[in-house]
Amino acid sequence: MSACKDDDSRIHAIKSKIRVVPNFPKPGIMFQDITTLLLDPKAFKDTIDLFIERFKGKNISVVAGIEARGFIFGPPIALAIGAKFVPLRKPRKLPGEVISEKYVLEYGTDCLEMHVGAVEPDERALVVDDLIATGGTLCAAMNLLERAGAEVVECACVIELPDLKGRDRLNGKPLYILVESH
Ligand code: AMP
Repeated sequence: MSACKDDDSRIHAIKSKIRVVPNFPKPGIMFQDITTLLLDPKAFKDTIDLFIERFKGKNISVVAGIEARGFIFGPPIALAIGAKFVPLRKPRKLPGEVISEKYVLEYGTDCLEMHVGAVEPDERALVVDDLIATGGTLCAAMNLLERAGAEVVECACVIELPDLKGRDRLNGKPLYILVESH
């Protein structure tokens, strides 16, 4: 019981540190700004700790972080659970041979790339990003990992925008989130 209360108070504090910026980067978007969470060492550490508590001991060997904000949360989780970190990057950023997946964003279209050879077949992978909106980004990330033969165990985001029903696009893949924003 006390662990649950502790989780609740940590999550409440994390939520309070996320700044919502209306009409950024374009009209109608309520931008969830996690840079204000990073300014608070306790809330930032609690965020990482909650993910570590969830994923340690799950035999995960790959943490794949989505550019750019998955690069903030992914590496400390990877180090703590003894997994490698694999960056999933925007086009033309990775210097080696890549595989690519196009996807649709809440505001525009984009593409993710992963280095060939970064992941071995049958590795167990966790996908990390800051936020799920429509779910297109996480779908593209999962496709990249599955094309490389990895098993995606779960996806993890700090924030979910449940009204956009992105979770429904994950083909039943478990999604762990810390806070919802409506
Ligand atoms: P989606 O593919 O629609 O799930 O969009 C998720 C990706 O877009 C994540 O990498 C987020 O960083 C970014 N994103 C989408 N909507 C927002 C938002 N309202 N606030 C902050 N980031 C967002």
